[in-house]
Amino acid sequence: MVVEGEFRTEVLVIGGGIAGAVAALAARRRGAEVVLVRRALGATALSSGALDVAPDPLATPRRPRGQELSLEACVHHLAASRPDHPYAILYDELGRFPEALAFAEDAIDGVRFASPTEANRCLPTPVGTLKFSGGALHSIIDGDLARVESQIGVVGFRDHLEYDAELWARLLTDACAAAGLVRSFVPVACDFLSRRDDVLLQPFEIAARIDDDPAGFVASVRRALSPNVKRLLLPPVLSRGDPEVVLRQLEDALYVPASESLATRQSVLGQRLQRYLDEALEREGVAVVRGEIRARDDRDLDTLEYRPARPLPPPARLFLPNGQEPEKNEPGTPVRARAVVLATGKYLAGGLAKNGCLYEPTLRLPVAVSGPGCASTFRLTAHEVVEEQAFFRAGVRVDGGLRPLDEGGAIVDERLLACGDVLAGHDPARDGSAMGVAVFSGYIAGRRAAVVAAQGTSFAGEGG
Ligand SMILES: Cc1cc2nc3c(=O)[nH]c(=O)nc-3n(C[C@H](O)[C@H](O)[C@H](O)COP(=O)(O)OP(=O)(O)OC[C@H]3O[C@@H](n4cnc5c(N)ncnc54)[C@H](O)[C@@H]3O)c2cc1C
Repeated sequence: MVVEGEFRTEVLVIGGGIAGAVAALAARRRGAEVVLVRRALGATALSSGALDVAPDPLATPRRPRGQELSLEACVHHLAASRPDHPYAILYDELGRFPEALAFAEDAIDGVRFASPTEANRCLPTPVGTLKFSGGALHSIIDGDLARVESQIGVVGFRDHLEYDAELWARLLTDACAAAGLVRSFVPVACDFLSRRDDVLLQPFEIAARIDDDPAGFVASVRRALSPNVKRLLLPPVLSRGDPEVVLRQLEDALYVPASESLATRQSVLGQRLQRYLDEALEREGVAVVRGEIRARDDRDLDTLEYRPARPLPPPARLFLPNGQEPEKNEPGTPVRARAVVLATGKYLAGGLAKNGCLYEPTLRLPVAVSGPGCASTFRLTAHEVVEEQAFFRAGVRVDGGLRPLDEGGAIVDERLLACGDVLAGHDPARDGSAMGVAVFSGYIAGRRAAVVAAQGTSFAGEGG
């Protein structure tokens, strides 16, 4: 921690999304002293509640379940078919994939994966589509529509514009039929949101209302429930905290199992996942510090500096007229660490940035697109949304030990590792493997960082 004007730890993790959290927890479990610095929330806190591991290689829009290959087989297929994907780069470690998923489940409350020998789970979204995913938050995963056959009551809010039980039931019936699953959904339109202004309530506002009055919500579901319903599917707004309270009350009062759907926009579930991560970090003794890490000199771990998070300047100051003094970049607190894990995410979290060409702002590592080097962003996006977008696959290129590489393929620094979205070779929005990459690479990076830290004779910044 901060001693005599220096920030000192054995393992420094830069970034507090799921990749950084898993890396920090894995290093901690190996006995290292770990500090995690995060500037803000990233993609993790916006995610849907699904934890995608790898898509079924034979899945198509007309046959969305594919061949229902095991997660392990899907991971190996992705590694074999995409040589630039992190699973391919980590090929020698793929045998540890089940261990990494089990570690995440054990260390983080609320995170669940299918067994590596099972197929992707078939999870409903609130817009009536199906998502095939290897994992999800615990309140979701038991609602796997490939396994649940009974009459499913879908809960919506009467008079709410978005969560319409009737429409949701119809769309899910159609989506299941298209996937070869005969399922019947029964609308359960509850009157919990009955005030005049409730019609446009946003997901976080509904979650707050249910937190304030879980018994009232349960009573409203009971009033709307028909007797033939054997199971309940709820919109992803059960609670900003732990949904167990509401789920247990529903099950106790109505004698039917209940689960949540995935989220779309304004994801209450993404924030819940972030909370589960933060609780795990606290439980395991990882110090979490709000702020930013940057290297003063390019790619030089010995010049890392910490600055506390500052509030954003008011918008008017973002566009300074010519001649006005830009904000001074005060020197930060020097950082001394024996090993450093870069888990800074992609564009959304600021792990990658674009200013004419792509760059990596924290250490100014080279950004690889389909090869190393500074990539002009002109030709990196395809016209059609469904086409591959090189822009989103850009990132930091690493070796099989997750050590960042320079333009010539040499290791930048033996003490530096990278994991999660910042890695080159995968598009988190498209590949169907985003959280799998974050958990697996985070696990491997964290364990290695602990080993590097234990072997190190001096701290970065002290020479050697
Ligand atoms: C809307 C949305 C929906 C998604 N849905 C799904 C889904 O259904 N399934 C799925 O598998 N994946 C989904 N994803 C993708 C998934 O969320 C990401 O792949 C994953 O969360 C990446 O985790 P990460 O830890 O690598 O990065 P992030 O969660 O982005 O975390 C990066 C962290 O680094 C910090 N940081 C950056 N630079 C610095 C610095 N210099 N100093 C200090 N801190 C720094 C940021 O503040 C942040 O805390 C979704 C993403 C979005 C945006």
